Amino acid sequence: MLQDSKDKRTYDAIVIGSGASGGWAAKELCEKGLKTLVLERGRDVKHIKDYPTASKAPWDFEFRDSVPIEKRIGYGNARFLRESSLPFALKDDEQPFIQEKPFRWFRGYHVGGKSLLWARQTQRWSDFDYEGPARDGFAVDWPIRYKDVEEWYTYVEKFAGVSGNRDGLAVLPDSEVMPAFEQSCIEQYFQESIKKNYSDRVMIQGRCAHLTDPQQIHIDQGRGKCQNQTMCNRGCIYGGYFSSNASTIPWAMKTGNMTMRPNAVVHSVIYDDAKGKATGVRVIDAESKDIIEFYARIIFVNASTLNSNAILLNSTSSRFPMGLGNDNGIMGKYIAWHNYRGKGNAEYEGFQDKRTDGRNPDHSYIPRFRNVHKQETDFLRGYAIGIGGGRGQRSDTSMIGDELRDNLLDREYGNWNISSWMMGETVPVESNHVRLSRDMKDKYGIPQLIVSVEWQENDDKMVQDYLEQQQEMFEKAGFINVRVNDSHSLPGSDIHEVGGVRMGRDPKTSLLNEWNQLHACKNVFVSDGACMTSTGTQNPTLTFMMLTARAANHAVDELNKLNL
Ligand SMILES: Cc1cc2nc3c(=O)[nH]c(=O)nc-3n(C[C@H](O)[C@H](O)[C@H](O)COP(=O)(O)OP(=O)(O)OC[C@H]3O[C@@H](n4cnc5c(N)ncnc54)[C@H](O)[C@@H]3O)c2cc1C
Ligand code: SF4
Repeated sequence: MLQDSKDKRTYDAIVIGSGASGGWAAKELCEKGLKTLVLERGRDVKHIKDYPTASKAPWDFEFRDSVPIEKRIGYGNARFLRESSLPFALKDDEQPFIQEKPFRWFRGYHVGGKSLLWARQTQRWSDFDYEGPARDGFAVDWPIRYKDVEEWYTYVEKFAGVSGNRDGLAVLPDSEVMPAFEQSCIEQYFQESIKKNYSDRVMIQGRCAHLTDPQQIHIDQGRGKCQNQTMCNRGCIYGGYFSSNASTIPWAMKTGNMTMRPNAVVHSVIYDDAKGKATGVRVIDAESKDIIEFYARIIFVNASTLNSNAILLNSTSSRFPMGLGNDNGIMGKYIAWHNYRGKGNAEYEGFQDKRTDGRNPDHSYIPRFRNVHKQETDFLRGYAIGIGGGRGQRSDTSMIGDELRDNLLDREYGNWNISSWMMGETVPVESNHVRLSRDMKDKYGIPQLIVSVEWQENDDKMVQDYLEQQQEMFEKAGFINVRVNDSHSLPGSDIHEVGGVRMGRDPKTSLLNEWNQLHACKNVFVSDGACMTSTGTQNPTLTFMMLTARAANHAVDELNKLNL
């Protein structure tokens, strides 16, 4: 295939990936006037137009929104496989990977990435997180503190839109919020019980990226108030929740500076030994399989944690034989994730006069309370807890005709249910790593990624502590049928994997500086989860987006100063 001239393939900036973080890079760079090429390996997904199931009722689906076994084949790594979300599910053969140890790798390969599918929980980090590695002696010290990034959290939250309360907690700094969703009566009751029984912990309403009171900046994006439909992972036609598709990508497009190129699988970043910098990106066209090169002055790598590692490890040159910027050989190492193994649920016999009305896209949250001010357990760090509660209905469907109809119309209410899940910090260790296979390639000829991570003793102890604490909290609230268990879910099930290209002060022990630039190749920025030095207990995406916006603005400043 004839390629465009080199001039036509040259931009000011290239962004790899159009998901939660790549969308922010595109928005910031385009707003500042840079001609920006966004390379996305998946197909295009236009806001509203490409949400084919968004408004479908259950009876509009052939299989009532479930997916029969024969149609599940080939989707082993897809999450929440429903008929309604099948358009965004990834087939396993799109990118095979090697599980040296068992790992679940959830991916969203289309414009918007996983921002279209996420659960939208957004919490800021505090200095208990940024100072964690230095204080507790693991990983390396973060090169930033909360004061360095506070304004960028505010900046991102205002544009994306976050609902919640201002809770005034040191462990979870307040966000810029719109009104919170209402908690169910069982959550409110449990919240009171925790307040009465514990001085070291609180339960709050979750903070989530939904518009409960859209401001002018959201209306300008064409987004409207969340209608509480809870059909978010089909794509939301109201733009009620934040996704790249509804927000940052169309915003970047409006500047006239963005070129979006879907079906462009990035193979590697091109490094020019003579110039001592990266000059572009090598791409495989997913349809024609042609190899195409694009050029730019700066490159943002936002392909999601493990793919950003894979791209950089595959970007070899005589200067960087082990991967771009990988002078110290630690690229791909110190992968961490969140420990969601512990689960709990219980019932409450009260509130028999109340029932669950309507839907709620949010849930409650207990911020981390273990080892915050001092080391108090035999494991490092701690966990947050998600809490959801509602009242289920039962109906006997074993009959037919009038009897069945009467039963369906007159459902019985059971007790109130409450469920709980831990969200623990895993401590990054060198042996938890990814690397490229020497002989196995995918259908694009790109080396397959080998994932080699496993739980550590610290994680097992943390699960045990959660189980004990959760049991006690439920019992103190007077709940019955309390059940807690270790689900032994695989690493990766949390979809919060981070690390491999970590930030730090010292180029000997880290790969990125405090502005997300590769120490050894300053015009390449990595600002998705790959850059994370540690995981904290918070849902990570707000921090990825904030770091990206901050890094993009720094990149523009440096370009203007002719430093890049
Ligand atoms: C069901 C679910 C629930 C979640 N809930 C939450 C939550 O409540 N809160 C939270 O903080 N996080 C949550 N997450 C995680 C969140 O979605 C991710 O952290 C976030 O999307 C990561 O942003 P990213 O830009 O790094 O990657 P992504 O959003 O995954 O985007 C990466 C993009 O890069 C593209 N890409 C990959 N490789 C290449 C390549 N070689 N060439 C070109 N393009 C490439 C991909 O196709 C994709 O579009 C959830 C995820 C899922 C799936
Ligand atoms: S809950 Fe809100 S954001 Fe989700 S699909 Fe409904 S309207 Fe959209």
